[in-house]
Amino acid sequence: MIHFVGAGPGAVDLITVRGKTLLEQADQIIYAGSLVNPELLSYAKKDCVILDSASMTLEDVIAAMETAEKLGWMTVRLHTGDPSVYGAIREQMDILAEKNIAYDVVPGVSSFCGAAAALKAEYTLPSISQSVIITRMEGRTPVPDGQKIADYAAHQATMVIFLSASLTEGLQKELMDGGYDSDTPAAIVYKASWPDEKIYPCTVATLAETARQNGISKTALIVVGKVLEGPYDRSLLYHPAFTHACRKAEPDTQQYGDHFKTDDHR
Ligand code: SAH
Repeated sequence: MIHFVGAGPGAVDLITVRGKTLLEQADQIIYAGSLVNPELLSYAKKDCVILDSASMTLEDVIAAMETAEKLGWMTVRLHTGDPSVYGAIREQMDILAEKNIAYDVVPGVSSFCGAAAALKAEYTLPSISQSVIITRMEGRTPVPDGQKIADYAAHQATMVIFLSASLTEGLQKELMDGGYDSDTPAAIVYKASWPDEKIYPCTVATLAETARQNGISKTALIVVGKVLEGPYDRSLLYHPAFTHACRKAEPDTQQYGDHFKTDDHR
């Protein structure tokens, strides 16, 4: 059996309990060495076979899984953050299915959640943004038409940009071409949750300069949007004048003002 496990964003104690238990039981661990914290490997059994997939091809990874299966071993395929985000797991799962090898997936804390925690930010604020766009700059991996940074910038929603720390010059231009004001708040979060985590607050206009000055070219996320600063409306869910399935509105809520409408939020 193969378990695809999300390692979390970096800090060893941000893996799930289920993920840690599987690491402790694994006969073989294939981990994405470029981003997974190697300290996680200390959970492995003494005789566990450990492979770093950084220098392996898809074919090598599958071959290692097949060998383990023949020996009746359990393999953990350890991916950074959550495996569903830029994890390249689908291609592995499809081959395993063809070969009748059983697998499952254990989610992890994605680095975009790790970055929000580092920033102490809420990506979804009433009246500012109710959506989070997870995307990347086009690099050697092409991005389909209609899904470029400039297309998304037009929405003015919160954006979390992966895999683009070395492309901030172009990113900044696309964000502004797409419609973000140059003074829209932004932040570069380097190695969220790792001991050497760094946060560089900036604006869309100073993004590239901030990356350059601080020597950031990898292992970073770029967060853009007004949720990082500035005014917002308080939530309806916890507003005294708002009735919902678990709570009735207080009878006299005049004191709280009526700047919000309840109609479309039930
Ligand atoms: N599956 C991973 C993403 C893998 S793609 C996840 O859910 O987080 C690799 C990219 O993720 C990196 O280029 C960087 O943009 C981002 N990344 C991964 N870990 C990070 C961290 N701890 N801090 C900031 N960015 C990180």
